[in-house]
Amino acid sequence: MTNATPDYQAILQQVAQQVQPLSHRGKVADYIPALAEQSLGQFAIALHTADGQTFSAGHCANRFTIQSVSKVMTLTLALQRYGDELWQRVGKEPSGTAFNSLTQLEFENGIPRNPFINAGAIVTCDALFSRLSAPIHTMLESYRSHTANPKVGINKVVAQSEYDHRYRNAAMAYLMKSFGNFDNQVEEVLWSYFNFCAIELNVCELAQAFSYLSTGGICQQSGQRVLSARQTQQLNSLLFTSGLYDAAGDFAYRVGMPGKSGVSGTIIAVAPERFTVAVWSPGLDKVGNSVAGIAALELLAEKLGTALF
Ligand code: GLU
Repeated sequence: MTNATPDYQAILQQVAQQVQPLSHRGKVADYIPALAEQSLGQFAIALHTADGQTFSAGHCANRFTIQSVSKVMTLTLALQRYGDELWQRVGKEPSGTAFNSLTQLEFENGIPRNPFINAGAIVTCDALFSRLSAPIHTMLESYRSHTANPKVGINKVVAQSEYDHRYRNAAMAYLMKSFGNFDNQVEEVLWSYFNFCAIELNVCELAQAFSYLSTGGICQQSGQRVLSARQTQQLNSLLFTSGLYDAAGDFAYRVGMPGKSGVSGTIIAVAPERFTVAVWSPGLDKVGNSVAGIAALELLAEKLGTALF
């Protein structure tokens, strides 16, 4: 690797061009009607550097719900309020099972494996709920300040659709409650969780929202410290081992960066001290990760030498 700054704009354009054909592959998420309406053939990528510049290519103006990528911000806000005490409620181990698996909870006394599977994110929401008077408002304000866009909002149709089809997530929450690992009203916590998942951003805003992961914990736009440098490093380690559902190993092998995916076809990845990158393309592979998104990150990591090892 040389010290010269890469031509990020040219590289993103090459990546977008190369992976665009893959955006027609895979299947859009269909577990709720509102997501099933997304169309294949779309791809966008944005990169936000640790010194505050944003570059992008593809269908960048399109807005999408961030789904499971929201779990990273939920964990961030919970770590701000609990520090290491949070780990009494949720584990730090890769799950190796689907994002919405119930079985592990039964065998492990209602303690979810990690904060990036649904059960783990829901219990983290419960913890957050106990320390915030208006969790949805606080969450929205975080994204608004991180993106410097006061208009960031929630796709209410998606949030309602998630809530109307909440059976599996509700089953996890009630199972955790039966083990004593849930403090608040299940339905209220679920409503917050679905609203967090339904926050709508474009790919540039998504890269900006998580810029603190590449800067040792400082938000680029607001200049505020979001997490300590140590907590940021720990969060990146968890993303590396558990951020991609049950394909975390494959992602580590192909891309080699910490990352988090969501079923709307979005993924964020982090090159510590260099940049945060966000991709979006709704066609998903069998485990629920964006086909073109992973291919794009693999290509980018290769071109920029950002794999950690
Ligand atoms: N809202 C989704 C759910 O809870 C998030 C799933 C995901 O993106 O992994 O089912």
